[in-house]
Amino acid sequence: VTDEARNDSDRLRRLTDVSHAFTYATSLQEILRTAADGAAAMLQADKAILMLADERGMLRVHAAYGISAAVVERFQASFDETLADRLHGLFDTESFDGFVGVPLVVGGRMTGLLAVVRPPGKSGSVDDEWLLSALADQTAAPLENAQLAEQLERASLLAENARLYESEREARRLAELAREEADRQRAAAESANRTKGEFIANMSHELRTPLNAIAGYVQLLEMELRGPITPEQREDLRRIRMSQRHLLRLVNDVLNVARLETGHVEFALAEVPLQEVLQSLEPLIAPQLLAKSLTFSFVACEADLRAYADREKLEQIMLNLLSNAIKFTDVSGQIRMECESEGDGIVIRVVDTGRGIPADKLEQIFDPFVRVDTGFARQTEGTGLGLSISRDLARGMGGELTASSVQGEGSTFRLALRSSAI
Ligand code: ADP
Repeated sequence: VTDEARNDSDRLRRLTDVSHAFTYATSLQEILRTAADGAAAMLQADKAILMLADERGMLRVHAAYGISAAVVERFQASFDETLADRLHGLFDTESFDGFVGVPLVVGGRMTGLLAVVRPPGKSGSVDDEWLLSALADQTAAPLENAQLAEQLERASLLAENARLYESEREARRLAELAREEADRQRAAAESANRTKGEFIANMSHELRTPLNAIAGYVQLLEMELRGPITPEQREDLRRIRMSQRHLLRLVNDVLNVARLETGHVEFALAEVPLQEVLQSLEPLIAPQLLAKSLTFSFVACEADLRAYADREKLEQIMLNLLSNAIKFTDVSGQIRMECESEGDGIVIRVVDTGRGIPADKLEQIFDPFVRVDTGFARQTEGTGLGLSISRDLARGMGGELTASSVQGEGSTFRLALRSSAI
């Protein structure tokens, strides 16, 4: 076997090695590097480059063997010099001795250049060019595949991005629509509520005028200013007056709720002496207490305890709580009123030994028109507005009204208020 023959079989083996390597290459970059490395190995060159034409047809270095990254980078950036000058620069030689270069043809188009330079003195072989061409041909197929794959991936990435962008925009649009709809509904609800509030306020005024007239004429008759009346007629008049009062109370309650709902209530807030205010309530409820033989106790407040409140509205809340306690406590029961400071505020409690409130109704009773529906509740008069008004008033003063209860044993209503302005 001659030297030349051994050399040839050696080169063919290297060519086969390279084509094996191609089958394992997974990326475009890897294929290009495999080709450049393979070219150097096959032709026993110390430098090799693989250039690909960019979209303007300029040849750019994509893989290099035996050339420093800095040099590659310098010649990647500029295209000022001719291709020959660039090749000289890249290979760092003055002459083209030992230079072998072949075109890379992909899909019938010249797409690049595969070139090597052998060190001076190392002789080449006549079929160096043929070998390099064979390698270039082998590179073409995987290169085309990889390029296609990259294009595909870029395209699908673009498509995916576009899809994401679209769906995000759609989501934003839907959210915007939902918000607009919610705004519209809120505005409509507010407007409906305002209209309702105004209507109720107007109606209440309209109702109060004739009710006051009824009271006036009843009084006229009772005073016998229109002539003498019989005892039966007097009893009838008493009943008329009772019903008139009841109706007036209802109308006033409704008016109160309407005013509170439409925000037409003003609070004259000041530091109110608690002991004094609470004590003044007892005479007002004494007749009702007596009528049901209820025991009432008021534990005196600390002398200088103050609530930051509108005095009249505080009285209104307390009278409501106390008359509820009386209303919903059986004959001979007990009612207690107490007050104390708590944190930086004060707390007033009205505790009764009445029938209590079911746990699931403890919040509902503060809604307008809610009355716990038992046979007993229907016997007691009321509108279900008292607690709703009281809680609104408490909150209007920066406080809170809550209830707790053990059914059958009694209820506790707790009014918390600030003790001074913040
Ligand atoms: P009204 O007393 O006119 O029915 P309220 O708003 O004052 O309206 O009270 C609502 C409901 O809460 C009452 O109907 C009653 O069922 C319940 N309630 C209020 N206070 C008490 C209490 N002290 N004990 C038991 N139930 C009560």
